[in-house]
Amino acid sequence: MDTASARAFIHDLAAFGVPVVLFSGGEPLLRDDLLDLATFAVERGLRVVLSSNGTLITDDTARELGRIGFAEVGISLDGMEAVNDRFRGRQGAYRAALEGIRNCVKHGLRVSLRFTITRLNFREVPSIFSLAEREGVERLCFYHLAYSGRGSTLVQEDIGHIQTRQTVDTICELTQDLHRRGLPKEVLTVANHADGVYLYLRTKETNPERAEYIYALLKRNGGNSSGVRIGAVDPVGNVHPDQFWWQYSAGNVMERRFGDIWVDTSDALMSGLKDRKGLLKGRCGRCQYLDICNGNLRQRAEAVYGDAWAEDPACYLTDEELGIK
Ligand code: SF4
Repeated sequence: MDTASARAFIHDLAAFGVPVVLFSGGEPLLRDDLLDLATFAVERGLRVVLSSNGTLITDDTARELGRIGFAEVGISLDGMEAVNDRFRGRQGAYRAALEGIRNCVKHGLRVSLRFTITRLNFREVPSIFSLAEREGVERLCFYHLAYSGRGSTLVQEDIGHIQTRQTVDTICELTQDLHRRGLPKEVLTVANHADGVYLYLRTKETNPERAEYIYALLKRNGGNSSGVRIGAVDPVGNVHPDQFWWQYSAGNVMERRFGDIWVDTSDALMSGLKDRKGLLKGRCGRCQYLDICNGNLRQRAEAVYGDAWAEDPACYLTDEELGIK
């Protein structure tokens, strides 16, 4: 999309009532008009968020991001220096990203670190917590791996169920430790809503009252919302159910308005995602926690089983925990 098309698209988003636009990539700051588009979005009442590798966020750029009113700047960091640079395939990427983080913090921007959990880096989680504490980062987002693309080789990069559970335990314990020390940070896990169920079950063992409060919050959130409250639009205007589901498009915003594409129930996948409970199969179809998980990441089921309604292969909870006979 050129600048005029991107502006028209943002205008449609605002008219449709979309509350937040997250500029992501690739690397969004490679677009010369990114800051103009963000300004245009803010002027139309949209909340803007940036997701970047951080390497292009100079002192001047950070000042501009603050002036425009970015609500949050997400910066990807997938480990400490050696691991991150190997992960990113570029020496110096860690130092450049750290510079970007420091520039954002200096200009009062809310920074969120984005870490994708894989076999290569899951042991780095404690170091990422320490870095966030040291650098004044307010938010940590841990992404479970989505297997973008059918038959994706990314499946091999994922950690198994036992390690996933241990990693989520580590994230919970380090988060509690920050709170105990009076240094609360917002810590999220992304792309595996079984985490919500696990957090509920884990808390229930020691604090049933708090567990019910957690359950109520998770229920209000409703679990995975790909194709419902989250959507992704790629650089040529194709609309996808989420940021992981690039191989499927429900339409193109250069041809139809985003809102018209979004509410079009003639698209089987999009309408199924909006009311998926009756379509789910396997363990997800029999799970008693659908209200708070909503069948997890459908794209992962599609990538592994070729069926968007199959069970999510990354659910690490046991049948016993899920109440499945
Ligand atoms: S079985 Fe499916 S719906 Fe239930 S917790 Fe696991 S991923 Fe979520």
